[in-house]
Amino acid sequence: MALMRKAITKVMAARKGARNTESETTALEAVPKPTYRDVLLVRRTEVLEQLGAQYDNVSKPGRVAEDDQATLSHEEFLNVRLNSLDYERLKMIDEALDRVQAGDYGICQRCEDPIPARRLEVLPWAKYCVVCQEKISRRQEAEQEESAFASHTSR
Ligand SMILES: [Zn+2]
Repeated sequence: MALMRKAITKVMAARKGARNTESETTALEAVPKPTYRDVLLVRRTEVLEQLGAQYDNVSKPGRVAEDDQATLSHEEFLNVRLNSLDYERLKMIDEALDRVQAGDYGICQRCEDPIPARRLEVLPWAKYCVVCQEKISRRQEAEQEESAFASHTSR
């Protein structure tokens, strides 16, 4: 444990500079997977900042009159699209933080195997291992095709 904490402190120091290392280390002791939690919180802040910036762009007061709302510029349209992707991302990050809290972060929510650290580094909000993610994606595609051809049979 002492060794792990030392490693974490080193990572934190490398990422943010040595400031606040003392207090952050203390705060980190309360949670089981501090490095992932830290990564998630950083990513969450990034997404929120992005959402904030886009929100300012799209909805400046007086910028768009009622009548003009149908003629959002292409750029604004893209912003709205990105916005919803960011909301999706934010939701996944929040869910991952919930799992950190619950102590089952990094566990595949389908087969309950540990998600490889390399996957979590790339995708810190990953909910499933690669195998399950692929199965789920394939099943969703199949369901979409199915419902497109026979929507009346569902339920
Ligand atoms: Zn799995």
